[in-house]
Amino acid sequence: MKPEVLLLAPLPDLLLAPLKEEFVCHDWHQSKDKDGLLNRHGANIRAIIGAGGTTYHLSLLRDLPSLQIICVFGVGYDGVPLDYCKQRGIRVTNTPDVLTEDVADIALALVLMTSRKLVPATKFLQAGLWTRGNFELTTKPGGKRAGILGLGRIGKAIARRLEAIGMQVGYCCREKQPNVSYQYFFSPAEMAAWCHYLIVACPGGEQTKNLVNAQVLFALGSDGTLINIARGSVVDENALISALQGGFIKGAGLDVYAEEPYVPKKLLKMENVVLLPHVGSGTMETRKAMADLVVANLTAYFNGKPLPTLVPELA
Ligand code: NAP
Repeated sequence: MKPEVLLLAPLPDLLLAPLKEEFVCHDWHQSKDKDGLLNRHGANIRAIIGAGGTTYHLSLLRDLPSLQIICVFGVGYDGVPLDYCKQRGIRVTNTPDVLTEDVADIALALVLMTSRKLVPATKFLQAGLWTRGNFELTTKPGGKRAGILGLGRIGKAIARRLEAIGMQVGYCCREKQPNVSYQYFFSPAEMAAWCHYLIVACPGGEQTKNLVNAQVLFALGSDGTLINIARGSVVDENALISALQGGFIKGAGLDVYAEEPYVPKKLLKMENVVLLPHVGSGTMETRKAMADLVVANLTAYFNGKPLPTLVPELA
């Protein structure tokens, strides 16, 4: 008998195809009759697969008495109620490492796009304005200071890229890291006051909710730019909009938002922002590697083998 799994998010074919070979898949996300699906199959569901930004609601998990494992197709698992999973012995896996370089590329791209105004420059050319004169002068990122909030796998890969373009790197985590030579800051506000680019790369969830608040943005200042490739929840979005509108900060480059896929209308209308639709890990190569990890975790679990990427809190 193939194990039954519940699909909680829209998943790409490169994950769905191998899943469907090994498991009986129930598509919760697409289902128009979620209650009916639960009534018919809830008792047999042994695994859930969702995305990094998915919320794994307790009310749903409680209705799945046979649930044994949640596999997150992403590195961030802030949507998973870990304490509840611990209590019930539900295993949780994610897809670390394989997406690190792609997400760091997007952070670098956002630094370059905001500093060199690459989107307005493209629009300028497309509008035929070049024949009337040159595009405005922009800001050189080299020589400027970048503060990375969350110097983990992705934060470090971002740091390497920023050093390569001549930026000075500082970081803020809950603890100073041994063998890291970048300047350490104890608080996000202290680092924001020091840097020109504040780059958010820490996990989402309750512990980091609105860590970048009005005070931090004010400290970043009118020559400062906020880059967020982590989670929308880490930044107080209303405070960010006010800071951009009031000119308290210079600009923002965002890949993530508080209520994805909905982006505040006020942000959409701003000139001094670059907005990407959560594409950090969105390459064919990386999504395939992430899909392989999800399948590897599931098959390991159902064959009684050690899980390749069990989240550290449950290890
Ligand atoms: P990681 O290796 O676990 O690194 C997380 C870093 O954040 C660690 O250095 C950690 O250090 C720090 N941190 C944790 N809590 C903090 C706090 N309260 N204040 C300051 N720093 C804190 O994770 P990763 O693989 O680099 O991934 C980071 C995040 O990127 C993920 O959780 C996910 O949300 C996001 N992400 C986004 C995309 C995208 O498509 N845009 C793709 C993948 C991942 P300490 O524990 O010492 O504080």
